Amino acid sequence: MKVLVVGSGGREHSLVWKITQSAKVDEVFCAPGNAGIADLATCVDIAADDISGLLSFAQDNGIDFTVVGPEAPLAEGIVDIFEKKGLKVFGASKKAAQLEASKAFSKKIMNRYGVPTATGRSFTSYDPAAKYMAEFNGNVVVKADGLAAGKGVIVCSTPKEAEAALKEIMQDKAFGEAGARVVIEERLEGEEVSFLAFTDGKTVLPLPTSQDHKRAFDGDKGLNTGGMGAYSPAPIIDKFMHDKIMKEVMIPTVEGMAKEGIPFKGVLYAGLMIDRDRIKVLEFNARFGDPECQPLMMRVQNDIIDLMMATTDGTLDQHTIDIDERAAVCVVMASGGYPGAYRKGNVIKGLEEASSARDLEVFHAGTTLRGNKVVTSGGRVLGVTALGSDVKRAINKAYKAVDKISWTKAFHRTDIGGRAIGHLATKPRVGIIM
Ligand code: AMP
Repeated sequence: MKVLVVGSGGREHSLVWKITQSAKVDEVFCAPGNAGIADLATCVDIAADDISGLLSFAQDNGIDFTVVGPEAPLAEGIVDIFEKKGLKVFGASKKAAQLEASKAFSKKIMNRYGVPTATGRSFTSYDPAAKYMAEFNGNVVVKADGLAAGKGVIVCSTPKEAEAALKEIMQDKAFGEAGARVVIEERLEGEEVSFLAFTDGKTVLPLPTSQDHKRAFDGDKGLNTGGMGAYSPAPIIDKFMHDKIMKEVMIPTVEGMAKEGIPFKGVLYAGLMIDRDRIKVLEFNARFGDPECQPLMMRVQNDIIDLMMATTDGTLDQHTIDIDERAAVCVVMASGGYPGAYRKGNVIKGLEEASSARDLEVFHAGTTLRGNKVVTSGGRVLGVTALGSDVKRAINKAYKAVDKISWTKAFHRTDIGGRAIGHLATKPRVGIIM
């Protein structure tokens, strides 16, 4: 098979890495890819949201299967367009991707099918939104409805902050058209967990549990980022919680979407807030999370193409997932200044030495080649991902490799995975299944 992977982040590098291990795959292409992906696949210079360019490439090069990484092309309908031309593609259809691309749509689905989520409503004009918001006494979250690269959510603690957030989104249009509609909801407390599953629209096949670290700095300080690291499994999810999430969130959502006539195929990602035994959905994504995908790909032992093809073909009920019992930890190395402004073009040193350890992969995100040198080209630059017999060992191995890599003004968090160790020490609940 010839496979095309769409995207250029650490997620796509880990997907390409896993796909090249498939016995069914002869050749992998990635559009646009990055310097690390170029070691495993042929990178083609087509942007991830240039759907007509991707379609022509797939048709001209006899691509048998396309795997879409990021949300933007899904929301623009790449799956529908490829399928119309008879091409096989892994990902959610345009309508199904609304679960991520429209927070108002996902709220509607959750409310209609009894999926637990924060109390909230959506608005298209300022005055009724402001009036509704007043009921929460400032403990409110204001969300731009559309895609805003993970930035369109403002978590507030006072009425003043809430008012400023609503003004920023609806009047100042800080997130453009994504903020023409807002969702206002109660602010939840607890711990965030990522729950991802393959689904073919009928069967839900859960991936291992994972957690990411969204804030820029140690101790969950600083601005929200795309994610500064992740680990799997998430010890907060024991068998009881796993069953509860499947029963209360994943299955009713997939069944609900099918009832709506919008079967969801691909990876359904639920961002959950866990508070003791209570779960609520913060958001859905219609694709793998990044960085979560990186530790997940290191733990899944199946031929990933089998699972992806079954997802696309509607035969997922014939599959199970085999998981490496070891823990995996991904530490993101970023450019100084990220998630704000940062410099590009810094030469990265130590990659070869760092990558030589066993059960460790240095996945690339914002990197490019300048001559024969690998240089930085983005905010999140690398995802150093290691397997260990337990989470502590995985953390140590990942940080040992991180210490060998450097460039001007590189930074990373030093506490990735720390929460998992805390849970294992304090919460001897039985039956952590994956
Ligand atoms: P979302 O894109 O909706 O997941 O929001 C991004 C981030 O904002 C989440 O990962 C949470 O950290 C935070 N967030 C979103 N909704 C809520 C909520 N209702 N209560 C508290 N925090 C929230």
